Amino acid sequence: MTFPSYRARYLPAMTPRQIRALPDRAWAPVILATGAIEQHGPHLPVAVDALMGQVWLTRALARLPAGASCYVAPPITIGKSNEHTGFPGTLMISRETLRQQILAVARQVHAWGFRSLAVINTHGGNVPVLIPTLREIRATLGLRAGVLQARQADGISAQEAAFGIHAGEVETSWVLAAAGPLVDMARAEREYPARLEDPGEVRPVAAPALVAWASRDVSLSGIMGDAAAATAGKGERWIERGSADLAEAILEVCRIARGEAC
Ligand SMILES: [Zn+2]
Repeated sequence: MTFPSYRARYLPAMTPRQIRALPDRAWAPVILATGAIEQHGPHLPVAVDALMGQVWLTRALARLPAGASCYVAPPITIGKSNEHTGFPGTLMISRETLRQQILAVARQVHAWGFRSLAVINTHGGNVPVLIPTLREIRATLGLRAGVLQARQADGISAQEAAFGIHAGEVETSWVLAAAGPLVDMARAEREYPARLEDPGEVRPVAAPALVAWASRDVSLSGIMGDAAAATAGKGERWIERGSADLAEAILEVCRIARGEAC
């Protein structure tokens, strides 16, 4: 068995000569996974976001036609996670270090002849760094740069959709499906940072006034959501749907750069 399963597209598995000989660099997107190593409650491993980046890559790339143009950069596994400080197992880099890491990958990929960078991001705390950095890459290098998105999970409650923001039903279901033995469901709880029927004016998300929260401010357990409602079946369905969305998005990014189907 080859590792990773997308090894034929994985740039670090190639020699310089092989990379130089790739005929589709002008339009093939290079996919960069950005994740995190941070607390995900008492029931999930700290690597959830980094792990899910690999799950999305593996599942989305498996859906592409064999000849579709697309390559993979080494992932950035530690993210900007200062909101989860104080929990054992959380690792973090500063927003400036994250920006510089993304820029470094973009500069090199550009120097090798690629013209398109597409990010699969699995950690919300990275987003405020990611978006301006991708625009900076577009402005300074001319590289096309964007984030690949999948639809939100369907069939969850309005409460979970609004305030299930971390280690809740969706993330726990994903990990149950992708790496079940890593989940301790006996410790999965329901803990929300706000209630739909009485949300208050200052909240971590979706409020008139947003607070720059740390996990300790809004959650005792580290969970923000209903982890107890998670099942492997839901996780499998959501991963299946999400990876189909990502595969479509990869082909679309490629088509835009090429001007025809990839
Ligand atoms: Zn997460």
